[in-house]
Amino acid sequence: MQQLKERILRDGKCFEGGILKVDNFINHQMDPILMKSMAVEFVRRFASLDINKILTIEASGIAPAIMVGYLLELPVVFAKKKKPSTMENMLVTKVFSFTKNNTYDVCVCKDYLQPGDKVLFIDDFLANGNAAKGVMDLVRQSGAELAGMGFLIEKAFQHGGDYLRAQGIHVESLAVIESLEGCRITLKE
Ligand code: 5GP
Repeated sequence: MQQLKERILRDGKCFEGGILKVDNFINHQMDPILMKSMAVEFVRRFASLDINKILTIEASGIAPAIMVGYLLELPVVFAKKKKPSTMENMLVTKVFSFTKNNTYDVCVCKDYLQPGDKVLFIDDFLANGNAAKGVMDLVRQSGAELAGMGFLIEKAFQHGGDYLRAQGIHVESLAVIESLEGCRITLKE
């Protein structure tokens, strides 16, 4: 998506270890106009899917997910990173975070992810695919069906996308980063 690619080149910042910071428009300050355009693009790309629910993980997935849910008039569920003491009926999985170098629990209440649900997962970044694998596990545990996965930014050099596509999952990424080597942002055409 051209608009996003231009914004990444203009405002994205590269850090050691293959990290791209987009705090100026996605991860800290948010640009709702761009967020809406990205959601419109997701709706176009996933138009053929039969879905009844959007799923994401807190916190950075919530903004794009709610925009997609708004456009499609579908409920949006965000998986939580800490198990709330008051929440029963939980599905839980473990996710390794390479940006934080730790493993954390991701959970969702069974009331909001059920057999028969057809789920579109939306998140900000796809890197090694650990968060996505955790989501696949939650969806599998729930008996729901994963219809597709949409990411604002995919870092192709970390190969999470290769894994997901090899599983037969319909994956759409609005901007694909080929490399951040030498702290230079190289985007896929
Ligand atoms: P994965 O689980 O695919 O390895 O990483 C995906 C998650 O890690 C995303 O939900 C995102 O929050 C975070 N992440 C991975 N790479 C980056 C990055 O380069 N920049 C930012 N801001 N977050 C990232």
